[in-house]
Amino acid sequence: MTEKFKGACLCGDVQYEVTGPFKAFHVCHCSQCRRSTGTAHASNIFTTEDNIKWLSGEDQVKRYDPEEPGVISKAFCTHCGSLVPYLSAKSGMLIIPAGGLSEDPGITPQDNIFWKDRADWYDAVPGAPRFDGFPIK
Ligand SMILES: [Zn+2]
Ligand SMILES: [Zn+2]
Repeated sequence: MTEKFKGACLCGDVQYEVTGPFKAFHVCHCSQCRRSTGTAHASNIFTTEDNIKWLSGEDQVKRYDPEEPGVISKAFCTHCGSLVPYLSAKSGMLIIPAGGLSEDPGITPQDNIFWKDRADWYDAVPGAPRFDGFPIK
């Protein structure tokens, strides 16, 4: 069954709608994904290229395509810097940063990839205390 999911960047200028069901959901801990996202890992949903409709701000999306082979590309909102979906030249797949979606995508991560490259501090994350907002002092 096809289902549509909306997504957006932090400032809201870039809005899109992607169509599921999706092919894969990988959490990637490689050093490139860590640098690119500024956090522990990328959380990427994979689908085919025709499964996206830009609702606004497409002209505000910039792609980063490195010259060096083997370095990942990315796309982001030029106003707020949030990652947005992009077509991977290497795999030909549309890569959707899962955190940008406004709704439950109906798929959960199937694996952690590049696990051996995870941040030194990552193993402490699942066991760290949980708060519904900022910790109360
Ligand atoms: Zn934005
Ligand atoms: Zn990666």
